[in-house]
Amino acid sequence: AQLYGIPDWGRGFFGVNSAGEMTVEIDGTKGPVQVSLMEIVAGLEQRGYDMPIVLRIENLLQSRIVYLNETFRGAIAAAGYQGRYRGVFPVKVNQQCQIIEEICRFGAPYQHGLEAGSKAELVLALANLTPGGLLVLNGYKDREFIDLGLWAHKLGHPCFFVIESPAELELLIERSHQLNVRPHIGARIKISTQVSGMWTETSGDRSSFGLSSTQLLAMVETLQAAEMIDCLEMLHCHLGSQIPCLEDIGRGVEEACRYYINLCREGAPMGYLDLGGGLAVDYSGRCSGDGHSRNYSLEDYCQAIVTTIAATLDNTGIAHPHIVTESGRATVAYSSMLLFNILDVMHFEADPLPQPFPANEAEILQEQHRFFTTLNGHDYHQAVILRDRMRQQFRDGQLSLRQRTLGENLFLATAQKVVATARQSGLSSPQISELQDALADIYYGNFSVFQSLPDTWAIDQLLPVAPLHRHDQRPTREAILSDLTCDCDGKLDQFIVGGELRKTLPLHAFSPGENYYVGAFLMGAYQETLGDLHNLFGDTHVASVRINEEGGYDLIEEISGDTIGEILSYVEYSPSVLFDRMRKEAEQAVREQRLTVTERQQFLTLFGDNLSGYPYYRG
Ligand code: PLP
Repeated sequence: AQLYGIPDWGRGFFGVNSAGEMTVEIDGTKGPVQVSLMEIVAGLEQRGYDMPIVLRIENLLQSRIVYLNETFRGAIAAAGYQGRYRGVFPVKVNQQCQIIEEICRFGAPYQHGLEAGSKAELVLALANLTPGGLLVLNGYKDREFIDLGLWAHKLGHPCFFVIESPAELELLIERSHQLNVRPHIGARIKISTQVSGMWTETSGDRSSFGLSSTQLLAMVETLQAAEMIDCLEMLHCHLGSQIPCLEDIGRGVEEACRYYINLCREGAPMGYLDLGGGLAVDYSGRCSGDGHSRNYSLEDYCQAIVTTIAATLDNTGIAHPHIVTESGRATVAYSSMLLFNILDVMHFEADPLPQPFPANEAEILQEQHRFFTTLNGHDYHQAVILRDRMRQQFRDGQLSLRQRTLGENLFLATAQKVVATARQSGLSSPQISELQDALADIYYGNFSVFQSLPDTWAIDQLLPVAPLHRHDQRPTREAILSDLTCDCDGKLDQFIVGGELRKTLPLHAFSPGENYYVGAFLMGAYQETLGDLHNLFGDTHVASVRINEEGGYDLIEEISGDTIGEILSYVEYSPSVLFDRMRKEAEQAVREQRLTVTERQQFLTLFGDNLSGYPYYRG
């Protein structure tokens, strides 16, 4: 467990039991409850689900919402802060129906609301929002978007129109007069505080979102002229997602408070300060300020926000605002994981060399062999030169396939010797690590990076990856994970191992036909809808379970993955037309006596089964 950092990134939600299987852990009323992920996998396979599967654990989502709200409440009480915490979930982080319904259900006791950034998101948010939950509207708003929000207001939902550009303010004023609503208005500002991290281009002067100070002032004047300054109740800012350093958050909040104070002084009633998202997830478990982690706890985050606002506003005579955050990633990342099986492995290992080495072999191969036998250091530069010369001779037609194979084998044997010698003498260098990575196995996993873990490909996001079992055995191989797509980018080659960022993952020896299961964890945020159909691998099956007090689990919801026919229809094919074409072609083959009638039926059954089948590998 330690090797894979499970206690660090798992935050008590994941562990390993005495059988060496990964577990999900929850706090039951009578103490901690553990359920093996392998037990869940077995149960799902018995129910007919093939890998890969996205597994959602309902309890983890509930636990995150409760923790977020309770921690803010605690910080507010401890600081004697006058406002309340009003969390909203940004729908774009995971729009899946079941996730939104669960967030609204578990968030209801806290009036946890929703944030929508488009008309489609508003439609689903409006139909799911629980009483009293805030509805925060970001994004570019046209007349339909605004009208729907105004009707939400009429229905009694506290709906905030966050103005991101001067043009939409005019439209909001016009439509609210038409519909006779005095809307709650927010102003989204560009915060100039630059923050570090991988997803932070939403802050700074060049951010494409939010109003500059000049535009903000113009907005205030427009509202004053329209006698609607009393509608301006919220200041909104978003520093970026996955902010690794607490110090950056503190500076951003301070700047936001200064804008807030000034808007109050301009006559706006205000009352809400929305700090957007940014609460980071510790994907690496290293608790550090790098992009995959964060240097603070949730307690630190809440306390920093509460005390910074209080300290900046005290002595101004302005009441503490209600604090809104739009934490997405930190709310949903933990509850979903991608489970898949390993199908095959490619080793980069030398086959035994001929003994004795044939004296009449081609000169280049003799040279390679001499270098291999006499090598006793770590400088393998000459081995690369010899290998490249050997390859050139093959291209020139001077070496046969058998000789090329021997040459490649000699190079591999040399590289392995270099790595083994370095390991024995405890030597490490960037070249040796590079060579070690180049010799790592490729484990082929039954999944698509592009469909299920797109951020790992698009922006090098790190997600914790670990085998689901065999933790009682020492992993003896080093590997990268390749997916099913025919794309060299379809791989996972960034891992957290023993607290270090590495290009290879220790895995257990595997032979085809064996059951070996691996999980990619903390993937509940952003991945599901960003995923694409590369190579026409569609949505995987989704199973949602709730861990029960008895140490078992209840299957709450099962969603079958896309069939091949469904995927083809997404790219405008009609499965019935395709089937019909094949029927005609098979009948023609019968007429021409290339198929018997029985064979025609066998083929059509196979074609039909494929259309209604799962696109992933089925054993
Ligand atoms: N709010 C806004 C306006 C955003 O743009 C985002 C994402 O970038 C979020 C909230 C969610 O951020 P996070 O997932 O870091 O909490």
